[in-house]
Amino acid sequence: MHPAHTPVSAYLCDVIAQKSVERILDTARIDEVVSDFVTLRKRGANLLGLCPFHTEKTPSFTVSPAKNLFKCFGCGRGGDPVKFLREHEGFSYPEALKYLAAKYQIEIEETQEQRRDDPEEILKDQLFVVNQYARDYFSRQLFESEDGKALGLSYFKERGFRESILEKFDLGFAPTGGSTLTVHAVHEGFRSEILQQAGLSTSHNRDFFRERVMFTIHGLSGKPVAFAGRILGKTAKGPKYINSPETPIYHKSNVLYGLYFARQAIRKEDNCYMVEGYTDVLSLVQGGIENVVASSGTALTPEQIRLIKRFTPNMTILFDGDAAGLNAAMRGLDLVLEQDMNVKVVVLPDGQDPDSYLSELGPEKFLHFLETERKDFILFKTSQLLQQSKNDPVARTQVIKEVVRSISRVPDPIKRGEYIKVCSQVLQVEESLLIAETNKVVATDIQKDRRDRERLERREEVTHEQGTSGTALPSPTTEKHPPQELDLVRILLTGADKMIQVGEEELTVASYILKELEEEVVQEFKSPLLRTIMLDCLDRLAKGDSLSSQVFLQHPNEDIRDLTIQFLSPDYQYSDNWEERYHIVLHTQRMPEDNFARDAQLALQRYQLHKLDHLCDMNAQRVKEAFEANDEEQYLHYLKFQQELQTLRNNVANQDLNTVVLK
Ligand SMILES: [Zn+2]
Repeated sequence: MHPAHTPVSAYLCDVIAQKSVERILDTARIDEVVSDFVTLRKRGANLLGLCPFHTEKTPSFTVSPAKNLFKCFGCGRGGDPVKFLREHEGFSYPEALKYLAAKYQIEIEETQEQRRDDPEEILKDQLFVVNQYARDYFSRQLFESEDGKALGLSYFKERGFRESILEKFDLGFAPTGGSTLTVHAVHEGFRSEILQQAGLSTSHNRDFFRERVMFTIHGLSGKPVAFAGRILGKTAKGPKYINSPETPIYHKSNVLYGLYFARQAIRKEDNCYMVEGYTDVLSLVQGGIENVVASSGTALTPEQIRLIKRFTPNMTILFDGDAAGLNAAMRGLDLVLEQDMNVKVVVLPDGQDPDSYLSELGPEKFLHFLETERKDFILFKTSQLLQQSKNDPVARTQVIKEVVRSISRVPDPIKRGEYIKVCSQVLQVEESLLIAETNKVVATDIQKDRRDRERLERREEVTHEQGTSGTALPSPTTEKHPPQELDLVRILLTGADKMIQVGEEELTVASYILKELEEEVVQEFKSPLLRTIMLDCLDRLAKGDSLSSQVFLQHPNEDIRDLTIQFLSPDYQYSDNWEERYHIVLHTQRMPEDNFARDAQLALQRYQLHKLDHLCDMNAQRVKEAFEANDEEQYLHYLKFQQELQTLRNNVANQDLNTVVLK
């Protein structure tokens, strides 16, 4: 129990002495701090990872140990170790410092004075203090006042909650009077503006919560950030639940009810149960299932999912057994997939909620039910939608679209592949169709990601003085490769498995191109990445492996994956001047499905011409040198060779392109 009368001064938090602050800031290393939460890989002088603050499939979150800063080129967030902890863990400034002090075993000295520097921080501290006062006040009302005991405590006891649970979760009772809390708090020394800003008093200095049982909403560090009040009695007027308004310390989309108490259990069980209501959380915890949180009736937000993901990648969502709400709820879950979470769902029997069903079955059978009845979300969604479509072809097309959308949200390509396999069986459609549809969506998304990032990088480079933009990311933009090489690789990556007719022979695009280009020729590719791709393809063909976009999209080399994605994006464009500078006319780009044969041949031809032009230039130089050196023998030798090269070049240029036709 909280003490009956706590003086306001006891709520004031201690302030860390300046010299301790300096020691902490000098010691904390950004890479060490971030690594506790984000998987980082080395990229030159920097470290790179997937941004924990926004959803992305290609990493743009950069950590610079030299500057002791982090920076995300996707969402623009950046700062020092303290900033990272404040953004990532939701810590206040002193909380972040205390965290770092503990991490680096630095002893901190504290002083008892209020910090004067940052008015925003001071306001936050004041809001925490007044919320702590309100929490204790509501609690005293529940356990000690006549009304509280008669109305509030009896309500909780009727629902089967033990006192230990009510105390653990800081439940309380808001009295009937109308302004009881406000009057008491002002008497204790709180200013009415602070009470209003915390959402505890109305602008007329009346209590915001009146005659309701109270649920304290805790932040991740266990401090009370807000309250929810449930109305009592069936005849009472007003909404069933009311919540504190948004304040500087309470952002509804960033908070999950019960997470403060559940986090250790979530980590231990490596799973988080998600329910809808406050009392569902209380019931499950009382029943011994402690790894449970509530979304408090709102749709899940990416921030909430990321909160869970700090403790586990596995989430099991409990749905009440009514079909109407199910579809809407399922749509929201694509967000969860985007965060690379493994999502399972359990649907409770008709008319049951977690609270009621748990008390019907008892904890042991209920847990068994959860463990045996949970289904993978995408498969569940697929069969659920299929059932509803009842073989109507239009509805079925819509189902496929919905399923593809969910699958495309899964960031891991291997997991995506598995889903495609199973869902194509459930939907009874060709696997290749699902692959193609999914790749289209994935490519569009990634392209958009990349554009956003590049725009930010450019802005970054402009605003930074020279020499400090060293955090810019290498990306396999198509600009830096010789166009003739790039053109061949593009056709390989996008159409390797397309069948074409060459003379009498029927070949795949891959074997046609690679048969024409022997390994020695490939070795002469100037771009190292493109050379690697060509050699890798030759290798795979020699081993009898088949080649396709899917293979490249799942290639272990990230640059190859990225390049494939770029080419597959529907809005992929060469530079505007390609057509006029290199005479490269892109048939596949205009009519992608039908022109692989023609494009493959043209690309080969252009590559060969490019090589011959280069040889002509080199030889012409030798002719000139021999002439200037008065070496007649050498001069005639090179001149003859030059004529042969010219003939060869003309033959290639005039090749009859109609010998290769589309199968
Ligand atoms: Zn970001």
